[in-house]
Amino acid sequence: MKKIGDMMKNNTLKMTSLCMLTIGISQFASAEMTRATLPLLKAEQLPTWCDSNLKKIQQEISSFEKIPAKTDAAAAPILAKWDKIFAHLEDFSGPIGLYSNVDPDAKLRKAAEDCEIKINQFHTDIFQNSKLYNVIKNTKATDPIDKKYRQDILDQFEDTGVQLEPAKRARMKAILDELTKLEQEYNRNIRDNPEKLEFTPEEMKGLPESYISGLKKNTKGNYLLGFEYPEYRPFMELADNDDARKRYQIAFTRRGTEQNLKLLKQAIDLRYELAQLFGKASYADWVLKDRMAKTPEAVNQFLAEVQKTVAPLERKEVEELRLFKSQTLKTPLDKTEITRWSEAYWSEKLRKIKYQIDQEKLRDYFPTLAAQKWLFAISSDLYSIDFKPVKVKAWQSEVEYYDVVDKKTGKLLGGLYMDKFPREGKYGHAAVWGVYGGSTLTNRLPVSALVTNFNRKGLNSDELETFVHEFGHALHGILSNTRYASQSGTSVERDFVEAPSQMYEEWARRKETLSKVADYCDPACPRVDDELIARLKAVHNYGRGLRYARQTLYAQYDMALHTADALKVKPLETWQKMEAATTLGYVPTTEFPGQFGHLMGGYQAGYYGYMWSEVLALDMLSAYGDNLNNPQVGQRYRQTILSQGSQKPAAELVKDFLGRDPDNKAFFNEITGQRVK
Ligand SMILES: [Zn+2]
Repeated sequence: MKKIGDMMKNNTLKMTSLCMLTIGISQFASAEMTRATLPLLKAEQLPTWCDSNLKKIQQEISSFEKIPAKTDAAAAPILAKWDKIFAHLEDFSGPIGLYSNVDPDAKLRKAAEDCEIKINQFHTDIFQNSKLYNVIKNTKATDPIDKKYRQDILDQFEDTGVQLEPAKRARMKAILDELTKLEQEYNRNIRDNPEKLEFTPEEMKGLPESYISGLKKNTKGNYLLGFEYPEYRPFMELADNDDARKRYQIAFTRRGTEQNLKLLKQAIDLRYELAQLFGKASYADWVLKDRMAKTPEAVNQFLAEVQKTVAPLERKEVEELRLFKSQTLKTPLDKTEITRWSEAYWSEKLRKIKYQIDQEKLRDYFPTLAAQKWLFAISSDLYSIDFKPVKVKAWQSEVEYYDVVDKKTGKLLGGLYMDKFPREGKYGHAAVWGVYGGSTLTNRLPVSALVTNFNRKGLNSDELETFVHEFGHALHGILSNTRYASQSGTSVERDFVEAPSQMYEEWARRKETLSKVADYCDPACPRVDDELIARLKAVHNYGRGLRYARQTLYAQYDMALHTADALKVKPLETWQKMEAATTLGYVPTTEFPGQFGHLMGGYQAGYYGYMWSEVLALDMLSAYGDNLNNPQVGQRYRQTILSQGSQKPAAELVKDFLGRDPDNKAFFNEITGQRVK
């Protein structure tokens, strides 16, 4: 539900008391504020828990319905009541959303998924209820925060079809239900694909023993590889056999099965129909009105500008790779080719030889525990907060919990859960769940859960960036200080939500911060020095053209599917045409659209948001200049951005922080490698 996932990068519990079943939130008294921890559930209790909570919220909704819809009624008390109902809903929908992804018990995960479907339907019913809508509509808000919250609520009602005539409203509900099912099926087809590819020992050449020794073999002595990233990625980067990589890549793009191309088409048509119900020209028009970008034209113009900048860079990088390959293999340049299935392989070789970066060796610099202590310390200095470990029971025994406390006032600000290491059946990427939003009105504290799949011993530089990135999302939730829980933390516009995290990634790249990791190593570890920083920077800069060109292609493809011509669009044909126009071209028989999960998971007409957020991230970063450790800037950032949630439109937040209108200079300098700080 409120998960912030990431780009294309990644015990049965006991109920301690029955009252948690019905209250849904366990509370421990502390000096000033009340610590909020998550309820622990058992699979067999979950359906009852889900139903009884929904029933309870329904009663609150029914009582809200009875508020007389008086013209110009004071908004504040009505909004407060509304927000409270949704906080109660969140008390159980928050944990459900998390547990369906991380609970060790498969039965509980399934029960949580079933509950999620009920919660979604419940949501649609609420936001199609015209009595509720009229109560809010008739209020008069007097201050800017109330005005914004009132408008956000009304938008949500209107986007769910409350103003549509009854037949269209019913159709809207049916479309939403159908879309949920299509999306679940599409993602299940990818997730549950049991196909394994067979590779001979000969074809495994180039891969390290640590990788090979963990693989399954068949009776012929061949290796069996599936579609999980930890199996696929190293193979594409390290396996010497070109044909084997080609075979694996083609199969990987087809892992969603042909069925998924049909499901995607059905979803695109339904989304178009949905936009039509609202008189909008396209699904993109309908979605974007509530985003920073506002219109498809603004998105397309932005993407065209990025494309214009990165296309020559991409060509240059492919040329560099081709030259490197021809020199390495001693083949004539005009007979040397870089293909889609060899790009990652030659890039990795180039990184190792030219930039001397071996990701595996970097783990010595960033032991996982030291990295965590360092991340706590830099966040603590920057934002004037402390992290205090507290023993609380969680969904799994290794999960850690921290109180986050304000240094100056000693006030408890919120709670942080960390579930760091991989295990079977756990969500496979890296993400943060903003489980509870905070509210100053009701002294409700925010709780965020950070979920990753780290190596226990140490992190490479990509993983360290991921850690800092996700931590940025967690702090956005925990340092939130909004009046209403619904406006807490990461409830900002979808094309802004990545910005705070993308900005924070820089803390994993510069010397003034990275050199401090060694302070927390026990036993001692090597300290990051100027020379390593220079190599890390060079390797970060290398491949920008290829990386941004690919992101632009994904975003443009997404926009191309959700146009006014959607009914005529054939997803695979459109993809073939667009990818064929790129430097590396389209590889026959690949079916990328069948496994582009973002398009069936909340990022439809929204993939551009990653780069849109990055424009703002890099612009905000410029305020730190030469010193990322500057606590004055950090605390101004905490006050103007992190604590505000969605109380103001994101554009205003950024303006408050920067003292000027945002611009895209820093972003374009980053793409072209001209960014200084
Ligand atoms: Zn993120």
